[in-house]
Amino acid sequence: QANERESLYLVSEYASSYFQKILHNTDKGKSIGLSYFKERGFTDETIKKFALGYSLDEWQAFTDEALKQAYKLEFLEKTGLTIVKGEKRFDRFKGRVMFPIQSMSGRVLGFGGRILTNDKKAAKYLNSPESDIYHKSKVLYGIYQAKQSIAKEDNCYLVEGYTDVIQFHQTGVHNVVSSSGTALTPEQIRLINRLTKNITVLFDGDAAGLRASLRGIDLILEQGMNVKICTFPAGEDPDSFAKQNTFEELTAYLTENAQDFIQFKASVLYEESKNDPIKKAETIRDIVNSIAKIPDRIKKEIYIQECSRIMDISEQVLFTTLAQIDKKDF
Ligand code: ATP
Ligand code: MN
Ligand code: MN
Ligand code: MN
Repeated sequence: QANERESLYLVSEYASSYFQKILHNTDKGKSIGLSYFKERGFTDETIKKFALGYSLDEWQAFTDEALKQAYKLEFLEKTGLTIVKGEKRFDRFKGRVMFPIQSMSGRVLGFGGRILTNDKKAAKYLNSPESDIYHKSKVLYGIYQAKQSIAKEDNCYLVEGYTDVIQFHQTGVHNVVSSSGTALTPEQIRLINRLTKNITVLFDGDAAGLRASLRGIDLILEQGMNVKICTFPAGEDPDSFAKQNTFEELTAYLTENAQDFIQFKASVLYEESKNDPIKKAETIRDIVNSIAKIPDRIKKEIYIQECSRIMDISEQVLFTTLAQIDKKDF
């Protein structure tokens, strides 16, 4: 229902302004939240641009204030901002720095909240639950701030986390969005597809990042988009890398290290399997599977040729494999 959704937006937007007010105008907000963001190297301008905030480490500070402002408990609960247990109400986000998640048009849909300690028992990030306005699989963090730049640059960088998006902006690269921890979905790719046909996937320099990027590739190819991959040195992620580099250094790194997906898959998988015939066969089938996702026939053919060269196997065999896969799909 349109009215109810509007109520959820209004509660979420109120919460965003509340968390910002706590961050900027209270002693705890300043000494805990703001100093955390400053330590991460975020400037005031960046903090405002992404509407970052802080939630007090109290049981119901936000809920009490929202009710006092006449926001209805029903909508506080439906957005997940308040957890209701019998007669008791609790704030979902307590003692966390807050990242509002915005739609393409800038409306607040939900939040990510990060703990400030390195307590391994607590989840590092906590997110709003799914609601009538927040569908995790259909949003991309940073799309509101990035959309013009994505269209202008005709390319979109895709990163893993909130802070990767923010640090890139601060370094001067604005065409960047994040799937924020969830595996990339077709709906998320479709959002980008409206703005550009080119995606450069930038995942963390660790094993999890590598696997995530390999999975995302096929989904992007299926939508007829061009995909490049750029990895970071071991232990670095886009945030830590951007923080240590100037705009010129960052853009030079991205340009020099962005690889076409087949070069990437080949370099990662082929190196591991070239001395093992069975593994090598699997790798080749894996890559041909990716090529099969490309709707454009000319591109398909070019990739088959390239694959044949890198894998040191005849084009004929690859075309036969491709034909088998294509047939299975119908
Ligand atoms: P930071 O630099 O603040 O430590 P990050 O963005 O580098 O965070 P990663 O561990 O690389 O964090 O995870 C990438 C993304 O995955 C996060 O930005 C967040 O959206 C999501 N994520 C990470 N840990 C959790 C968690 N425990 N629960 C839910 N989402 C998470
Ligand atoms: Mn990671
Ligand atoms: Mn990371
Ligand atoms: Mn990080």
